[in-house]
Amino acid sequence: MFLVPSLVLNIVFDDIHKLHSDPSGRHPENPWRLEYALSALRDSSAWSHITIHNTPEAKVDLLKLIHDEDYIRLIERESRLGFHYIDNDTYVAEHTFNVAARFTTAAYDSSIRSLENRELWLIMPRPGGHHAGRSGWAMGAPTLGFCIFNYAAMAAKSLLDRGLRVLIIDFDAHHGNGTQDIFWYEPRVLHFDIHEEDIYPGTGYVDDIGGESAEGSKINVPLPAYSGDQQYMWVIERVLKPLIESFRPDAIVVSAGFDAHVGDPLTLLRATEKTYEAIGGLLRDLWVEGRIKALVSNLEGGYGEGLRRGFTSYIEALLGIRRYSGGIEPREPPDRILGELRKILSKYWGIGV
Ligand SMILES: [Zn+2]
Repeated sequence: MFLVPSLVLNIVFDDIHKLHSDPSGRHPENPWRLEYALSALRDSSAWSHITIHNTPEAKVDLLKLIHDEDYIRLIERESRLGFHYIDNDTYVAEHTFNVAARFTTAAYDSSIRSLENRELWLIMPRPGGHHAGRSGWAMGAPTLGFCIFNYAAMAAKSLLDRGLRVLIIDFDAHHGNGTQDIFWYEPRVLHFDIHEEDIYPGTGYVDDIGGESAEGSKINVPLPAYSGDQQYMWVIERVLKPLIESFRPDAIVVSAGFDAHVGDPLTLLRATEKTYEAIGGLLRDLWVEGRIKALVSNLEGGYGEGLRRGFTSYIEALLGIRRYSGGIEPREPPDRILGELRKILSKYWGIGV
């Protein structure tokens, strides 16, 4: 079936991202990533449905909505010292503070424009954001995992403060520990996170369900290494869709990382374009049917082929240019994950799997 696209996607892309870089070029999180992802989009049929926007001036005060003042000042001070590592994984450069603050401001502004003007938005920031917690290092993780400020959390917080119940979908291969930390005690933010088991940051177990008064609002689905489309389809159909029916979010914020793609060198997950088509298509349906009032995606990780093939699949599905056409037999995760997941979904959401 040929689907006629009728949507426009507003993308925040800004060459200032190049100011955050490792001069040696050895770090996997480098400017090449965004050039690669954008060139794939330019070559795709999505391109004529995309409007590119630069970042706004940084509104530094907004950062306090999601990060402690001490952490914000720390990043500002460290950036002034020029390029160096602030932990074993994460570097800052002279302009990092301003670059990350501008993309965080873009996430805030985009969420409001999505809500007020009924526009679709996607931010392409560097570095990623979902490992940055309220005071930086989150939930006992050893490092910031390349991240500085948390764009997805900023978009979610801005929508939450406008009275909306927000679903965060994080399908980056790594657990979004920073985002989960920021909303740990917030029951109006349902955070659904699918990631590879037992890799960095070492958080996101099935029984991590949220803090006091927010139990059940954090749903973690860790998948074993070598899981692929079959397990993703099972989780989308049997966990994510029922959660959406049960929670009925007013808005959705996506942490869209593409390092679970089979072509990514950093993880052992094996998702293909079909997984990203299925997620993009699900979000498109919710948007087109008017079931959500705002939809903002943030690019997170992706260090290889996923940035080209996964990213464009997601966007084309979001725009309705392509659609998951079936053919993958869903397969449930192993019992050690499924057993606990079953209990949590049943207890907090009345979902039987
Ligand atoms: Zn990642």
